[in-house]
Amino acid sequence: MKPNFSKNSDGLLPAVIQDAETKNVLMLGYMNEEALAQTLATQKVTFFSRSKNRLWTKGEESGNFLQLISIAEDCDQDTLLVQVKPLGPTCHTGLDTCWQKANNQEYGFLTHLEETITNRKKLAESNAETNSYVTSLFRKGINKIAQKVGEEAVEVVIEAKDSNDDLFLNESADLLFHYLILLQAKNYKLNDVVNVLKEREK
Ligand code: AMP
Ligand code: ZN
Ligand code: ZN
Ligand code: ZN
Repeated sequence: MKPNFSKNSDGLLPAVIQDAETKNVLMLGYMNEEALAQTLATQKVTFFSRSKNRLWTKGEESGNFLQLISIAEDCDQDTLLVQVKPLGPTCHTGLDTCWQKANNQEYGFLTHLEETITNRKKLAESNAETNSYVTSLFRKGINKIAQKVGEEAVEVVIEAKDSNDDLFLNESADLLFHYLILLQAKNYKLNDVVNVLKEREK
């Protein structure tokens, strides 16, 4: 590998950081020759930080290091692709990637459902007439929504004691659905709760 560090006058090349396993793009940083050498020597991704104006090993404060798996240069040796094993969330916001907010499909269908609920919430904030159940719940307010979650939780408990799997699953779906509504009524999303759980695992 012979990256061309003199391509730019500042001696910095962009380094795209990719999760070697999931192939998700995690972040983008800049490396000079020294940062690359240190990355290779320590097997921990080290950038030259333009804001700190020094070498910056990702994870030096948070412990969320990026363990080096491989480095490749692009077709004309002016960009690096660095594959890593992240030892924690890569973004300083606590999310796995720096683009997770813009492109969050992590929870598949649940993300889609959350988007529908967001749209119903927006509708609730307008004075449009609608027969949407979710919109009517948002208009009734947090107390009413929280009460619904409580009722559905009790129904799950009741069905858990019976042997009817069909009813148990249906009440579970009701609970999850109303819980997602409650989260958004409180201006949260599922990912906020997941982040708390991830934090506890540490
Ligand atoms: P860390 O290297 O994870 O210990 O974080 C140290 C500091 O670097 C943080 O306080 C942030 O200012 C910054 N930082 C951490 N992660 C990122 C990131 N993914 N993108 C940009 N800046 C970051
Ligand atoms: Zn290039
Ligand atoms: Zn970030
Ligand atoms: Zn129910």
